[in-house]
Amino acid sequence: FVIPDFQDFIKDVEEMYWAAKSNSDGKVASYIPQLARASAENWGVSVCTIDGQRFSIGDVNVPFTLQSCSKPLTYAMALETLGPDVVHKYVGTEPSGRNFNELVLDYNMKPHNPMINAGAILVCSLLKTLDRPEMTLAEKFDYVMSFFSRLAGNEPLGFNNAVFLSEREAADRNYALGFYMREHKCYPEKTNFRECMDFYFQCCSMEANCDIMSIMAATLANGGICPITDEKVLRPDSVRNVLSLMHSCGMYDYSGQFAFKVGLPAKSGVSGAMLIVVPNVMGICTWSPPLDPLGNSCRGLQFCDDMIKRFNFHKYDNI
Ligand code: GLN
Repeated sequence: FVIPDFQDFIKDVEEMYWAAKSNSDGKVASYIPQLARASAENWGVSVCTIDGQRFSIGDVNVPFTLQSCSKPLTYAMALETLGPDVVHKYVGTEPSGRNFNELVLDYNMKPHNPMINAGAILVCSLLKTLDRPEMTLAEKFDYVMSFFSRLAGNEPLGFNNAVFLSEREAADRNYALGFYMREHKCYPEKTNFRECMDFYFQCCSMEANCDIMSIMAATLANGGICPITDEKVLRPDSVRNVLSLMHSCGMYDYSGQFAFKVGLPAKSGVSGAMLIVVPNVMGICTWSPPLDPLGNSCRGLQFCDDMIKRFNFHKYDNI
């Protein structure tokens, strides 16, 4: 086993879980009513090792929307189907140093990276326009959903239509980003702008739970082979690229501090979810809706800090 004394490890996870549960910091996202209604009490943690040992505690079966946690997944899919050279003709690999929805492009007039809204919208246009362009938006939706599901050991994902409709209504900034990129000819030719934006909102509105997301994180930790099904879902070079950008850009404008303190690739979303990858060991998903001012889950961050104090998972702990 990759974690030989799993029972012992679980005891620590339980302690860290209960310690973070009493943390009442942060505010639930309120830009759409469907997210504002989430209970601040919700708190779940799931762990899946690369050899398939699993542990879950708390609200691990309650569905939430993927939101920005979909960004590394659509990026992975684009790398897998189009290759890194094509993808990075359109989107950079540099942290933006700004908010995730900041109206800004890099000095090449490309989005900074695929982990912020502009970059993720662009990745959606690549997936929609370059990879199997004959597919309708409906077919593309199924295709992405089943790809995400394969990352999660074939667990079924959901879709929250109310969130999707709300996201689309409350999306002035995302449309502004979309138009700004169109002005600068960021998209591949033939991009259908409206379809591309809808596709992005749909990816944000897919639903999963902690249990399921921990398997996705474990597939990344395992170099692209799902530890539950043994299916090779991603090539190792795609996983390497995804993890690199999660490491440098996955936690909004806290990414540098997170890389310094925790030293693990991770991605957070506005629903309060966090995907955390301990390469070659395990995937973790934490979920708790209250967010700090930068948009990261307060309990999720506390859990990571605590974990790094107890275990040598930081990238440079082995030095
Ligand atoms: N739906 C959100 C948006 O596009 C996703 C961003 C996030 O999770 N931070 O603004």
